[in-house]
Amino acid sequence: MKRKFGSVTVECVLGDITEQPDVDAVVNAANARLETGGGVAGAIHRAAGPGLAAEARPLGPIRPGEAVITGGHGLPNGFVIHALGPVYGQDRPEEELLAACYRNSLALADENGAASVAFPAISTGIFGYPVEEAAEVALRTVRDEAGDLRNVRLIRFVLFGQKDLEAHERALATRS
Ligand code: ADP
Repeated sequence: MKRKFGSVTVECVLGDITEQPDVDAVVNAANARLETGGGVAGAIHRAAGPGLAAEARPLGPIRPGEAVITGGHGLPNGFVIHALGPVYGQDRPEEELLAACYRNSLALADENGAASVAFPAISTGIFGYPVEEAAEVALRTVRDEAGDLRNVRLIRFVLFGQKDLEAHERALATRS
């Protein structure tokens, strides 16, 4: 499913964030130390190879809501943007911190000249954010930011399961 907000297309697809060769920047649901781990971070670091952690680690630790950018190393993407989501029920206000992840990631992609960005559903795995709530925050934030982007023309949400895809499609459909 796709929608256009001004000159920016937002789409939701089922897939793996490490298999998006047509996007310039992929976003990692990172940990504070910018090391490999489980979930998205594990998959991204495995696919990118050890050069990614070597470049990323000195940029950490980061706090919830923050994001940093590195090269893509073994990934088919020019950039990896590492964003630290809030742990649900622990890092507050969680909604603002999650929105900051999307805002800061888009700003970094845009500043670095990326025309396309792929996001996973940040915080909805190990960090426990309910996917319906997280999808609302994510879609609202990217829609609000779309008008200010100079380079980014495609924002893709890559969802790992049917339930997550449907939650994001619903949130995308209801954004006016
Ligand atoms: P967090 O620690 O921010 O919660 P996780 O990596 O645990 O991040 O999970 C975030 C979301 O990404 C979850 O919905 C999870 O199912 C999904 N996910 C896990 N691996 C991948 C992948 N390779 N591509 C896309 N999404 C993934």
